[in-house]
Amino acid sequence: MSSTTTYLITGASRGIGLALAARLLRDPTNLVVAAGRNPDKATALQALKDDPATKGQLHIVKIDVDDAASIRAAYEPVAQTVGEKGLDVLINNAGILLANDAPFTLDPAVMVPQFVTNVVGPTIVAQTFLPLVEKSRRKLIVNVSSSLGSIGIGFDKRYSSYSITKTALNMLTYKMKVERPDLTVVTLNPGWVKTDLGGSEAPLELDDVIPGIIDVLSKLKTEDSGTFVQYDGARVPW
Ligand code: NDP
Repeated sequence: MSSTTTYLITGASRGIGLALAARLLRDPTNLVVAAGRNPDKATALQALKDDPATKGQLHIVKIDVDDAASIRAAYEPVAQTVGEKGLDVLINNAGILLANDAPFTLDPAVMVPQFVTNVVGPTIVAQTFLPLVEKSRRKLIVNVSSSLGSIGIGFDKRYSSYSITKTALNMLTYKMKVERPDLTVVTLNPGWVKTDLGGSEAPLELDDVIPGIIDVLSKLKTEDSGTFVQYDGARVPW
């Protein structure tokens, strides 16, 4: 158990979260807790659990990041699963994109739920699982952001409400790093990938980014805390 690396991934029912879980499970030293808001309906994730090759390495918990009570209810099952190892890598991956909007016309009714899922959710997840992260060797928290959240890249007005939530998530990363220099907290741009959220026009496939993401995360050190990293190892401007 001492060489095991433990992971908790939110939003693991499909897309990047599911692909990350599947890839991590190829390494028998990884123990993955995959969180979904409707795990019973997450058929691909359940199939992964039933795959004999991954038996014992994958645990599924229910977490709706919009619901603080559901996040807190997952603490005990996750604590039991990771045991004395604690949680090496917490990946705040769950996220939503609801509109291609612009600042002077965007609908606050569309902005608020994105803020709840993309910013408030990761905050409560990190607060809740902090004792398990503190217990671990790696102490790594990964907030899955987007290049759309980068002011430095300078995109146009599209996807404004979503972009604003990701910029806020980036500031959460920075504030966490400042408060807790003993942890490693990064913001990750997974790349523009073909998923339900990324859409069919995305230039990258999941297989193009997932190995890179895992490699990038495996190399992060405390001195990398507070940086904006990308699937291919590049640094993204804030
Ligand atoms: P998908 O739409 O494919 O998957 C989103 C995942 O988040 C699903 O598992 C979904 O669960 C989950 N989720 C949504 N809301 C909640 C919630 N309230 N509680 C728990 N889980 C929730 O998106 P991607 O895989 O593409 O995106 C993953 C992350 O990567 C997001 O944070 C996204 O912003 C970011 N990203 C993606 C890019 C891309 O090109 N794909 C580019 C840049 C960033 P359910 O199945 O129950 O709906």
